[in-house]
Amino acid sequence: MTTPSTETRKGATWLFEDVDAASIFTPAKLTDEHRLIARTTEEFVNNEVMPNVDRLEAKDWALARQLLHRCAELGLLGIGVPEEYGGLDLDKATSLVVVERIARSASFATAFGGQANLCSLPLVLFGTPAQKARYLPPLVSAEMVGAYALSESSSGSDALAAKTRADRQPDGSWVLNGEKMWISNGGFADLLIVFAQADGDKFTSFIVERAWPGVSSGNEEHKMGLHGSSTTPIVFQDVRVPAENVLGEIGKGHKVALNTLNYGRFSLGAMCTGGCRAALGDAARYAAQRRQFGQPIASFGAIRHKLGEMTARTYAIESLVYRTAGLIDAAIEASPRDGAALAAAFEEYAVESSIAKVACGEVLDFVLDENVQIHGGNGFVKDYTAERYYRDARVNRIFEGTNEINRLLIPGMLVRRGLKGSLPLVAAAKRLQDEILAPAMPTTSSDEGLQVELRAVAAFKKVALAVLGTAMQTYGEKLSTEQEILSYAADILIDVYACESAVLRAQAAEQAGDTLAPLHAAAARIVVNDGAQRVEMAARSALAAMAEGDTLRTLLAALRRILKVSPVNTVTLRRQLADAVVAKGGYIL
Ligand SMILES: Cc1cc2nc3c(=O)[nH]c(=O)nc-3n(C[C@H](O)[C@H](O)[C@H](O)COP(=O)(O)OP(=O)(O)OC[C@H]3O[C@@H](n4cnc5c(N)ncnc54)[C@H](O)[C@@H]3O)c2cc1C
Repeated sequence: MTTPSTETRKGATWLFEDVDAASIFTPAKLTDEHRLIARTTEEFVNNEVMPNVDRLEAKDWALARQLLHRCAELGLLGIGVPEEYGGLDLDKATSLVVVERIARSASFATAFGGQANLCSLPLVLFGTPAQKARYLPPLVSAEMVGAYALSESSSGSDALAAKTRADRQPDGSWVLNGEKMWISNGGFADLLIVFAQADGDKFTSFIVERAWPGVSSGNEEHKMGLHGSSTTPIVFQDVRVPAENVLGEIGKGHKVALNTLNYGRFSLGAMCTGGCRAALGDAARYAAQRRQFGQPIASFGAIRHKLGEMTARTYAIESLVYRTAGLIDAAIEASPRDGAALAAAFEEYAVESSIAKVACGEVLDFVLDENVQIHGGNGFVKDYTAERYYRDARVNRIFEGTNEINRLLIPGMLVRRGLKGSLPLVAAAKRLQDEILAPAMPTTSSDEGLQVELRAVAAFKKVALAVLGTAMQTYGEKLSTEQEILSYAADILIDVYACESAVLRAQAAEQAGDTLAPLHAAAARIVVNDGAQRVEMAARSALAAMAEGDTLRTLLAALRRILKVSPVNTVTLRRQLADAVVAKGGYIL
């Protein structure tokens, strides 16, 4: 199955170029096959997972294993695995629609992600043919449950500083000693991708079977949420690992870890998008049936505001994850079908994946918080799902690289690519500086539909380049230690990519004559309108930290000139979205 996306740009080049709406991948371009597998997944989750959430929360890991078996029967565990190893070798758009649906049960989604993304994927990317032949078929069929053991109690974000040791033996095998922490599926996993310092300081990845002597798991963590997902320490005590179970090269474990996370972050973003859609449906249905002051609360402006905003933000992140899936799929399609090419495709879109991880996780938290609020007192008690969704989602900002770490990575990767010359960052920043010092050009404020929003996005790109360019000039090589500036830059870049993805999708809907095009446009307009305010605030704060006096005044004047975005009536637009969501009883776009 191929994804009909024609956007084939290299990673992050959207920052420097105009993009054609017809080229980006959107939900409207899903094929019948994508829709069928999405429906199959949805039915499985609704009929077999959701009725059993309480049993999962009571730590019934036999049931978790059984549900993974059902996923295997439905083909869901082999989507990203080559056919010769029992998989279906389908595109990332398929993985996206599947994880979006599985997200309704966050606990089971974590078990699924631990299996399909965190354990199978590193084998697909870096395994030898013998390793793949031995381990991928039982993972695809769920005969084995997988886990990914990177974090330790003293090294989470700083994962490469792991203390677990692997000491080489005279016969070439390794002896593993150490303790991993917070491992998803830890209580019942059969196969572990483990990271350790080989021969003292060579960070390396190993494939470890739980049945081997010396492997054990500690007690389940008492967590804020995800009670239906197993999270335990894993202890390795003199575990003998055969030489052929080194995954990738000795000393190159960071490649295995980081490439797995590059894709994992995109996938987590997709799960969060699915979570938003599910919660929005619950919120809309509750608002329609809950009456106060003699009328449904859905008729109150304050509630319509919430539903409209939840819809617009969901639209933006959904647009960006679909677009990213299309980009990754196009890159994979154009490459040889091997693990190295796949890893290169994930690395190419690592900036977009980090954006997806941060933006989608934060929008999900916003949506779930508003979902609790719309449910009032019922949102705070366990009889309704709003309370569990809210607790379950909080970890998304912590695992797969915290949002702070991902915020540093987004501009950090761009700057590195710019300095290497693979992105025209330096030239674009210089060009922009000349433009900033030139006399102001009048900007049109006439409303020509989404052209206005597209011009606003073009302005956001200029602001991103101005902030990055100023930061590179001000701090040079020390920029990597200026975390506040990098985080502001990340916020602007997130808005560039999210807003552009939303506007292009809305334009594509308009061009295709979609009957819902006015609602697409409403969502895109809200996102851009509010994005302009966020971009301005982040840019002002960043520039004020880097310049002062006349230089700062010049920069702020330029910022005002670039960001001349006329506000739109978002009250009306949000009401349109809210009313449509309530009428449908769920997400509309
Ligand atoms: C439910 C759950 C499931 C998990 N599943 C897995 C799993 O399957 N496999 C696995 O290997 N791990 C797993 N983890 C671990 C998770 O990946 C780590 O918790 C995460 O990477 C953060 O590490 P930490 O907890 O040590 O926090 P720390 O690294 O101590 O971070 C604490 C705070 O400091 C910030 N911070 C840290 N370093 C920097 C820096 N350089 N600059 C700025 N800010 C910084 C962080 O952003 C954070 O806000 C899981 C965790 C949880 C809670």
